[in-house]
Amino acid sequence: QYAISIRDLHKTYDNGHVALKGIDLDVRENDFFALLGPNGAGKSTTIGIISTLVRATSGSISIFGKDLQTHTYETKLSLGIVPQEVNFSQFEKVGDIVLTQAGYYGLKGKLARERTEKYLKKLDLWDKRDNRSRMLSGGMKRRLMIARALVHEPRLLILDEPTAGVDIELRRSMWEFLQEINNRGTTIILTTHYLEEAENLCRNIAIINHGEIVENTSMRALLGKL
Ligand code: ADP
Ligand code: ADP
Repeated sequence: QYAISIRDLHKTYDNGHVALKGIDLDVRENDFFALLGPNGAGKSTTIGIISTLVRATSGSISIFGKDLQTHTYETKLSLGIVPQEVNFSQFEKVGDIVLTQAGYYGLKGKLARERTEKYLKKLDLWDKRDNRSRMLSGGMKRRLMIARALVHEPRLLILDEPTAGVDIELRRSMWEFLQEINNRGTTIILTTHYLEEAENLCRNIAIINHGEIVENTSMRALLGKL
């Protein structure tokens, strides 16, 4: 079973810029997968389409065998997305940001509160639950985005450049955390332009360049070629 299958995905932005030129990609359930590529390659566009924030020009995506376009809500329930840019309200309280997201996924009452507590604790943010998010450091904001993406316990977690601009200590602890949730059965896809990050974490990789997949192999095979 594939966590995600992408077929012939194209994206041309309204200004005529061609960002994706027919992407095909399969990621197996339980994989830890890296989408590598230089800036401007099309990584964020791909994630934007998966998270339904960006509309594809053509092509299809299925998540655990279900088509994203025809089963949008169902597929969204099995997806957690950590975008590159902070996109929560700076004035909302940390706890409320996670609790609100739980509500989007249909979690209610006690369960929503328990999950919020669980993931804020896991990401070391429970003490900050009553703080407004603008008071958080960059690393804490990054952790908050991960807590928010996990509150509904998705089967597939996708992170866009999760450790960009993060100090080495936090990077290491994020790596450990991601490895742990992957070990417990969550499929993870991350984008990165650090080969080292992929090398440390990922079993399989694809390299995207100028909107095309130019390599799709195991991390071990890639390292053998370098
Ligand atoms: P990456 O995440 O790999 O850095 P992106 O997916 O952000 O790449 O960008 C792919 C290409 O699409 C880049 O050339 C970028 O300039 C362009 N692009 C991204 N977003 C937009 C947009 N909203 N409108 C026009 N072009 C865009
Ligand atoms: P909006 O109408 O505000 O765009 P959405 O339901 O698209 O509402 O998203 C609400 C918030 O949740 C946004 O900040 C968005 O980035 C984030 N989000 C959307 N889809 C997902 C997802 N699958 N996993 C995690 N966060 C998501």
